[in-house]
Amino acid sequence: MNNSILSDRILNLGESATLAMTRLSRELKSKGVDVITLSIGEPDFDTPQHVKDAGKKAIDDNITHYPPVPGFLELREAIAQKLLRDNGLEFDTNQIVVSTGAKHSLINVFMCILNQGDEVIIPAPYWVSYPEMVNLSGGKPVVIDAGIDNDFKVSPKQLEEAITISTKAFLFNSPSNPTGSVYSKEELEALANVIAKYPDLLVVADEIYEYINFDGKHESLASFEKIKDQIVIVNGVSKGMAMTGWRIGYIAGPKFIADACTKIQGQYTSGTGTISQMAALEAVKTDPKNSPDLKKMLKAFKERRDLLIKLVKEIPGLKSNVPSGAFYLFPDVSYYYGKTDGKSTIKNSTDLCMYLLNVANVALVPGEAFGSPECIRISYATSKDLIAEAVNRIKGALAKLK
Ligand code: PMP
Ligand code: GLU
Repeated sequence: MNNSILSDRILNLGESATLAMTRLSRELKSKGVDVITLSIGEPDFDTPQHVKDAGKKAIDDNITHYPPVPGFLELREAIAQKLLRDNGLEFDTNQIVVSTGAKHSLINVFMCILNQGDEVIIPAPYWVSYPEMVNLSGGKPVVIDAGIDNDFKVSPKQLEEAITISTKAFLFNSPSNPTGSVYSKEELEALANVIAKYPDLLVVADEIYEYINFDGKHESLASFEKIKDQIVIVNGVSKGMAMTGWRIGYIAGPKFIADACTKIQGQYTSGTGTISQMAALEAVKTDPKNSPDLKKMLKAFKERRDLLIKLVKEIPGLKSNVPSGAFYLFPDVSYYYGKTDGKSTIKNSTDLCMYLLNVANVALVPGEAFGSPECIRISYATSKDLIAEAVNRIKGALAKLK
């Protein structure tokens, strides 16, 4: 038997570029190459001790049986409290569904709302998995471009122009992966005014980087009362609580969406791991304003961002914005396209990333994967020393391109 047995669905699915680059860097590392991995987007911090203890206690307390499909009620109550505490938003527990990471929450929503050909508007640069999730669910991604000169943010006009009779949803992400851009309250309000004109338009608001915001308080599109019932918030503990491996995400939105996600999850997973849910319960009860762990992490990310921007400015030809959140820089590197080191010519961001992986031994992710072929993504969720060393290597390798 061979892979001809595979479905069109899987054959047409692209591999996650963030995970693919990270796999390549692991492979090189296993061969003894000293690779600096700036490709994966995950905090390099450990999960806070009190959260780990809650996970251990769950094992000792034998919380090891099937959970309720949408998540333990206690956890959903704590998430409702968190949404009130951090965002001033009221949600009932029956509007909340806990899943296996925000990734799973997102695909649940798309599987629940999309029929063949239904359109989902996605601003680019977008996170790699968005269009693939929409395709996998039978939908059609409709990409609207936001350039570096506009801090990678789309305008209300662009959103409105992209809405057609087939539009089902608008997929919105702030703070953004891969650009780190954060929409201000005024910018959100301008988008909300367009959204309000289309009561059948569902907004999937991915707020997974909520806590990694350097300039101010996180604002949610759901805080505009006139569109609140059109919003599904997607969030989780992976980024803000340094809990990527626990795999806990959630949605909060209209009850019929929560019911649908519970139904699909009932067939797919029977709900998320109990140990992780109990750890997440401890995590979401943590007020970020009073958490030394979170304050330490945020301070470190801000310092690293400032260092990376300063160092990147010293590299000829690179152009970047000043990200206000998340832990990525997304510089325009197109200055180097068409240049060569004498052996190979750099035609695009994939070529450049492969060149930097092989020559500088730094793993990054090509902008193509985020819908912005002129850029590359640098994750700065690593130490300042490694950031400085990586940029030094990148600078050296780029200087060889003529
Ligand atoms: N949305 C965005 C924008 C992300 O960067 C990530 C990171 N993987 C996710 C969702 C998924 O998060 P999780 O690890 O909770 O599945
Ligand atoms: N969100 C992270 C990233 O963009 C994790 C990897 C992934 O899930 O794609 O790198």
